[in-house]
Amino acid sequence: MKIYIDGAFYPESEAKVSVFDHGLLYGDGVFEGIRFYNGRVFELEAHLDRLWDSSRAICLTLPLSREEMTEAVLASVRENGLQDGYIRLVVTRGVGTLGLNPETCKRPSVIIIAASITLYPEELYLRGLDVITCGTRRIAPGAFSPQVKSLNYLNNVLAKIEAVQAGAGEGLMLNEQGYVAECTGDNIFILKRGTLFTPPISAGGLRGITREVVFKIAAELGIAVREPEMTRYDIYTADECFLTGTAAEIIPVISLDKRLIGNGKPGPQTARLIARFRELTQSSGTPIY
Ligand code: PMP
Repeated sequence: MKIYIDGAFYPESEAKVSVFDHGLLYGDGVFEGIRFYNGRVFELEAHLDRLWDSSRAICLTLPLSREEMTEAVLASVRENGLQDGYIRLVVTRGVGTLGLNPETCKRPSVIIIAASITLYPEELYLRGLDVITCGTRRIAPGAFSPQVKSLNYLNNVLAKIEAVQAGAGEGLMLNEQGYVAECTGDNIFILKRGTLFTPPISAGGLRGITREVVFKIAAELGIAVREPEMTRYDIYTADECFLTGTAAEIIPVISLDKRLIGNGKPGPQTARLIARFRELTQSSGTPIY
């Protein structure tokens, strides 16, 4: 595997960053997880938009222009000769001193890892995930906006530990008010009497790009979408439930806190959305070669 760091490619064993990088010392930086399918990068523009927004929100000036970043991403996949896979695009604050002050960091570092991995095995898409509610609350937007896809993911990591310890596939995170925000690395949707519901972004979830793609597919299929504040009751009593994320794609959920959702099997509307999503991933995106 060849990894891009600041304009050059390195073999995995030589792809290293400084111990003085504020990305390591403070989680000071931003990232994107991006997928490519069939030789095309899916939703690249949306990922770059979000990277730019995250960077702006933390006062980090990206060291590459939008065109240069696009080319670096495409080159990272080309360099590895891949057709399908996952890209981790990381921008750290760069090398500085031990103090917090980011002004000591002269230049942010760009790291791009293109790999051929997928998150969940195919049988989980057929069977569906079991989800539990985590005690760890999603970080309050007033403390630090969950819209920033930052290198500080401890809030999510702690929730993920709870899910893993409970033997669940994902963990549901509530906000400080007790409303549903999202899962540790995915957004959540339910279907109830033919309508799709997902928590509003103001509840504290990330504005997921897969979430936005589901909105488009729903419009295409004539399924109404609403974004009301949601509680766990809404999920317990849903007809169908699924999660969305770049790595997870669209994955059915069959239980929350051991309560079966619907009949405890992936639902028919979820299956329709997954089928259309897969068509889109295969047929759209920025060509790599
Ligand atoms: N929420 C969180 C906390 C995430 O990290 C992610 C990305 N893995 C998502 C939601 C889903 O966002 P996207 O569809 O853009 O990958």
